Amino acid sequence: MKKIIIANWKMNPQTARQALQLADEVRRGAKSLKNVEAVLAPPFLYIPIISKILSGKSNLRLAAQDIFWEKGGAYTGEISADQLKASGVKLVIVGHSERRALGETNEIVNKKLKAVLGASMRAVLCVGEAERQKEVAFPKIIRDELHEGLTRIKKSLFRNLVVAYEPIWAISTAGRGRADNPQNIYEITTIIRRELYRMVGKRTASKISVLYGGSVDDKNARAFVKDGAVDGLLVGGASLDAKKFIGLLKEVEKIQ
Ligand code: PEP
Repeated sequence: MKKIIIANWKMNPQTARQALQLADEVRRGAKSLKNVEAVLAPPFLYIPIISKILSGKSNLRLAAQDIFWEKGGAYTGEISADQLKASGVKLVIVGHSERRALGETNEIVNKKLKAVLGASMRAVLCVGEAERQKEVAFPKIIRDELHEGLTRIKKSLFRNLVVAYEPIWAISTAGRGRADNPQNIYEITTIIRRELYRMVGKRTASKISVLYGGSVDDKNARAFVKDGAVDGLLVGGASLDAKKFIGLLKEVEKIQ
């Protein structure tokens, strides 16, 4: 399986011109990648213009940062799975901690996951605890986010699921804003994988990529993928700097 590296641009950059320039630099930098699938998750607004510069042969995929679960109709401000798909989106991030902080519940996350997976796009389910609890190996909040987020979803749809473990305290703009350590990531993601085995069986679960996110940059990326044994990374801040992000992609590309 190729490693997946997702650039979550959040509400950046400020103009379409800057977005296009950043995407184009990354596109050129990603050209030689063989072992890594690079993904850009820009604000909705920039998706159509970036989609235009990505040919079928490009090593870059497009993701959305959110979605609405209804198919269409009177839902002011919302965007559906079919609209995203028609704009070239292949993956959708669901349940990011910054959306959960705005009131998104596991029930809402579940509806969004059903919409993404039902439209044959890949869903990136974000889970993670707000604070590190030393005595608890696997915080209940992560278990709940997995079980409630994935409830009543057909097992066959799990092949398009990606899980991103993002301890909120490790996100660069939140809490301590300092990366977790690879040993800890290895332990928690092993438990996440075991939980997924229990839910859908080993065969299906082994196809689910498990990523880490939280203050990853070009300097520490390699350690997380190598020693943390994750299948990829979700990157916020460092993905807004083309040089850093391309450097990060190349570090991961080197890992066998
Ligand atoms: C994120 O918010 O998903 C994230 C990983 O951000 P950062 O890389 O800036 O910590």
